[in-house]
Amino acid sequence: MKTLVKAGWLHTCSGAPPVRNGWFLLAGGRIAAVGSPGEPCPPAGAALDFSACSVMPGLIDAHTHFSLSHSDAIDPMPVMSQLREPGPRKICKAIMYAGEHLRAGVTTVRGMGEDDFIDFDLKAAIDAGYIPGPRISPAGAFISPTHGHGQTGQTVSDGVEGVRKNCRVNLAKGADLLKVFGSGGVVSGQAGLGYCTATLPELRVAVEEAAAMGKYVAAHVHGGPGIDLCLEAGVRSLEHATLCTDEQIERIAAAGTWVTLTFSPLAHPDGLRNLDARKQSRLDAVRRTYYSVARKMLARGVNICLGTDGVHGALWFEAAEMEKCGAGRQQCLEFITRRAAESCRMANEVGAIETGKYADFIVLRQNPLEDLAHLRSVAAVYVGGERRAG
Ligand SMILES: [Zn+2]
Repeated sequence: MKTLVKAGWLHTCSGAPPVRNGWFLLAGGRIAAVGSPGEPCPPAGAALDFSACSVMPGLIDAHTHFSLSHSDAIDPMPVMSQLREPGPRKICKAIMYAGEHLRAGVTTVRGMGEDDFIDFDLKAAIDAGYIPGPRISPAGAFISPTHGHGQTGQTVSDGVEGVRKNCRVNLAKGADLLKVFGSGGVVSGQAGLGYCTATLPELRVAVEEAAAMGKYVAAHVHGGPGIDLCLEAGVRSLEHATLCTDEQIERIAAAGTWVTLTFSPLAHPDGLRNLDARKQSRLDAVRRTYYSVARKMLARGVNICLGTDGVHGALWFEAAEMEKCGAGRQQCLEFITRRAAESCRMANEVGAIETGKYADFIVLRQNPLEDLAHLRSVAAVYVGGERRAG
C-alpha cells in the first residue's frame, strides 16, 4: 500500500528550492515518488496530512560519540573519564542519547569512535527494533597511539602493524569508517592541538586497510602538520580542522577532502566547560580561529558537513553557526542532510526526499528557511516510513 505525505512546505534538500504544497508517496519504507511543483496529489491508500507544516529529510549528524556528553548539565564527569566508564554504563547512556538524537529530528548519525565498540552493539539493537534510535554509521574503536587523543589504554595503535591490527579488528566488527588522529584535542592529556601523534606510514596503512574493504578514513585533526600528513595519506574526511592555515584550506579544497565542522563543544551553551587551565587555553585558541576558518572554507568551496561531537541534539545550532559564517539557509539545511549523506557515503540511501531513498523525514511546525532555530520545532520523526518520535 502506498501512503501519501502532504507538506505545507516540502524541503527535499536535493539541491532544488522548497515546494509549496508539495507531496511524496511512501511504500515499503522508501520514497516511491515525489510530486513536481504544482502537480496534483495522486490517490493513495492512506494519507499523512502535514499541510500546516514543513517537511524535510531526517537530519544527519556527521560526527558524534554515543558514550559521552559535552554538556555538564547532563554529565558533569570530564570527557576522558566518561570514556573510561564501564561498557554497560556507556551503553545505558548511549541508549538515552540515541533517543535524544531522534527527538531532535536526527535520523542518521556517524559514530566517530567509541571504546568497548559500543556503537556496533547500539546499531544492532536499533536495527533489530529493540530500542528507538537513528541509523548509525559506526567507526568502532579509535585508532590512536599511546600518547594520542582519546586514548584510554583500551585499544592502543602504535606503529604500522599496531595500526593495521586495530583497523582490521574494527573492520571485522562492521566499521563503515576508521577514525584516526592527526593531532591532539582540547581535552587531550599531553598531545596539543598542533602536534601530530601519528606518522605518515601509520596514516597510510589505515587508509590502505579501509580501502581494501571499500571503507574510508576520517581523521580528528585541529591544525599543524597533521593536516598535511592526512591529506598526503588520502584521508577522506578531516574532523574539526579548527586551526587550518590558508594554504591548508587551499590544499583541502583542491583535494576535494571533506571537513566535518563541529561548533557545539566550543560554542554551544551546553558545550565544554569547567576545564583546567591547559585545556581552557586550547579551547580559547580554537574559538579564536574557528569562525574565520569556516568562513574561508565556505568561500573556497570546501566540502563541508556538520557534527555535534557530544552535544546531543544540537544539530540545529551547527546549521545556525554556519549561517553566521555566511552560508545561505538552504545551504545550511543541506549541510545537515544531503551533503552529510555524501560525506558518509550514504547518499544513495538517505539525505534527501528523492525517489528510492529511505523514507526518513521530519515534520517541523515552523519553516526552517524563515529561521534555522525552527529546526527545533520537531512535530514528528519518521525513519523508514515509521513514526519514531514526536
Ligand atoms: Zn569527536
